[in-house]
Amino acid sequence: MAEVLVKVPKGEKITFKDGVPQTPDIPIIGFIEGDGTGPDIWRAAKHLFDSAVEFCYGGKRKVAWMELYAGEKAQKLANTYLPEETLEKIREYRIAIKGPLTTPVGGGFRSLNVTLRQMLDLFACVRPVKYFPGVPSPVVNPHDVDVVIFRENTEDVYAGFEVPSGSEEAKKIIQFCKKEFGWNIRPDSGIGLKPISESGSKRLIRAAIKYALRHNRKSVTLVHKGNIMKYTEGAFLNWGYELVRQEFSDVAVCWSDCNGNPGEKLLVKDTIADIFLQQILTRPREFDVIATMNLNGDYMSDAIAAQVGGIGIAPGANINFETGSAIFEATHGTAPKYANLDKVNPSSLILSGVMMFEYIGWDEVSEVILRAMKKTFHDRIFTYDFARLTTGATEVKCSEFAKAVVARLSKNPE
Ligand code: NAP
Repeated sequence: MAEVLVKVPKGEKITFKDGVPQTPDIPIIGFIEGDGTGPDIWRAAKHLFDSAVEFCYGGKRKVAWMELYAGEKAQKLANTYLPEETLEKIREYRIAIKGPLTTPVGGGFRSLNVTLRQMLDLFACVRPVKYFPGVPSPVVNPHDVDVVIFRENTEDVYAGFEVPSGSEEAKKIIQFCKKEFGWNIRPDSGIGLKPISESGSKRLIRAAIKYALRHNRKSVTLVHKGNIMKYTEGAFLNWGYELVRQEFSDVAVCWSDCNGNPGEKLLVKDTIADIFLQQILTRPREFDVIATMNLNGDYMSDAIAAQVGGIGIAPGANINFETGSAIFEATHGTAPKYANLDKVNPSSLILSGVMMFEYIGWDEVSEVILRAMKKTFHDRIFTYDFARLTTGATEVKCSEFAKAVVARLSKNPE
């Protein structure tokens, strides 16, 4: 390991046993503050996280935050956008939370976010989307939206197997396809591969089903385009149903095995991606947990988040449910024009923290933060993005929003 930027604070590692994180009273958790507006939202979110932990446990428990480096800060300090040390520390300490990172423009750079997900094999991108009363929304009944999207993170057209039009590699692939399969591909085509594996599909769908069972959800919907891409997206669907019959037959049932009447069991159904995008707008109550492949999941996560107020408020996590490693992250970008203005909405990062505290078993912390955020939105206290869409709002800065949430921390469910 070349770089030694990271200072490990006093505390203990979170371990992982039988699929569940084992969290000590002073867990070491990594954070990457991120580029652009990242430091603004991280400062605000950290203040709220520490206040909520103190509020819940009165000093008995505390997070030992460990700064990890990536993006522009890492480039300045270590001349690399993603130091090996950062990956090693996340592997070792398992849990991290991050702000957005700039993807350097120009050839040769893959997105740092995609790289982190792939190098740590964080195979599930989990995005809960739920409405907070008071938040401006473009749809008539946003409160009907309450879904959790499980997007496969490591395969599909994101696997990085792409060659440009006119390259030697593209020519070779085109010739090979012609010779071996009789496929006619235009000679000036760029080529990308879409691998979808049985193991990759099943581990993602397994995680979605387990999540649905643990959270008393009613259904898991497999979203696919299997009518067109039969051996990739269609196979994803077939493997999903096979998994239900093989591993979950006592607690879950496929639509076709129960004619849509699952009784007490979890219903596993499917829908084609294009009609899904209509139905989630017109009949959102019919959806609960959603499992899908990488590209579908990318489009769907942002489209559904728009229904409840958009990217400033959508949280996300990238998790390997087999090793326990997880990175919780703001889902929006760096919004560089607002950097250091203490202006943007920290809700996406805050809600990612809510997911993180739930994941490590500190449910009390998640609950008090959620309740306090609801109150803050109910009181129409908004950062600029929501304030500009609302009459009678009190517009506050990024840090002031976090302070307003802290002021509303309460153990009283009402
Ligand atoms: P962006 O940073 O998400 O910003 C687009 C617009 O979204 C902003 O101008 C702002 O809208 C709104 N917005 C973003 N974050 C917000 C927040 N916290 N609160 C309120 N509004 C917010 O997208 P981009 O400009 O396409 O990308 C900029 C950089 O971020 C690029 O380098 C990109 O690669 C990177 N990126 C990183 C991630 C990640 O790390 N996960 C994700 C996406 C993009 P208004 O202008 O209307 O106020």
